[in-house]
Amino acid sequence: MGTALDRATARVLAGERIDRGDALALWNEGDDDLLSRLATNVRARFHGADTATYVIMAIVNYTNVCVARCDYCAFYKFPGEAGTYVLSFEDLVKRIDVVAGLGGQLVGFNGGFHPDLSVDDYCQLFRRLHTHYGDRLAFYEMTIAEFMFVAKRSHMSYADAAARFHDSGTRWITGGGAEILDDAFRLRHSPGKYKVEDYYAAQSAVLNAGLGSTATMVIGFDETIDERLNHLERLRAFQDQRTGANLPALSSLLCWTYKPYNTELGGQEVSTREYLRHLALCRIYLDNITNLRTSVLTRNEDALLGLQYGANDFDLPTEDEVTQKAGATVSLEFEAILDAARRLGFRPLKRGAWAIGTGAVG
Ligand code: SF4
Repeated sequence: MGTALDRATARVLAGERIDRGDALALWNEGDDDLLSRLATNVRARFHGADTATYVIMAIVNYTNVCVARCDYCAFYKFPGEAGTYVLSFEDLVKRIDVVAGLGGQLVGFNGGFHPDLSVDDYCQLFRRLHTHYGDRLAFYEMTIAEFMFVAKRSHMSYADAAARFHDSGTRWITGGGAEILDDAFRLRHSPGKYKVEDYYAAQSAVLNAGLGSTATMVIGFDETIDERLNHLERLRAFQDQRTGANLPALSSLLCWTYKPYNTELGGQEVSTREYLRHLALCRIYLDNITNLRTSVLTRNEDALLGLQYGANDFDLPTEDEVTQKAGATVSLEFEAILDAARRLGFRPLKRGAWAIGTGAVG
């Protein structure tokens, strides 16, 4: 009989699914080389060995007004505080034009939980933006966390709200705002946001309405390894449910790291090593998610090392006030970042938005 680590290793190399005990053995006892090797093995089921895709994109924050009061957030202002804003359509267009001028193909929107905005307000805005830009740009119109809030404020079921967004031309409501999907974690840090079951109910409604969605995860707060594994376990089960029933599923997982500066929670950033090991664990455990994205926004060039730990895709961000307020830095020296990938032996290819619902590269 081998050790728990031997058993986990053998399972991955045989193409079998690992369980929670295997994941713990890999995390606690596996060295970096082993995690990299196993994650690369799983990555090869989906992607060519030297291919890596990227997208130039911005996250445009249209309002910083928020009533959720997450203690890890350096971005929000409570209604009535000095410095609140809601961008007008004209201001949004100016910001988006900057991204497009930098070669951007994708703009994600992200804002606070603004108590005065309704589903109809967002639908009108997205309709105008789609009319203005046509197919020149892809949009991630909203995150699931904002969707849940605005649906409730508008007294609509998730299914009705998702159908309304779909009718307005919205294509994506991504999995942003997930942080750690564990109720004990959520109670400690963002009790006003949602419960985990509610999050997945909203995501099901979004996918069922024909919109695209993604998974996200943020590490480095004060979460335990058990809480991280709860996130991965629930996510894998959700994706199984979707694909098992031949329903549209999540296209990717983007994992990034908490930036602790200017936040109530404070703390220290996790090391690059811990981030890379976690990426590897995500790739190995989540054997039903095709695309794993490493975060240049929060790790800069170090994020490219993630390609050796199971990731196959990365963003070249041009702005995101939420993470920049908490300490993230953005570089527009795209070639230098791409060179970091090339030096590691990868051939970076610019991509568009993912194909909706299939998990395939679009
Ligand atoms: S993380 Fe999002 S929901 Fe939480 S306080 Fe900040 S803006 Fe609001």
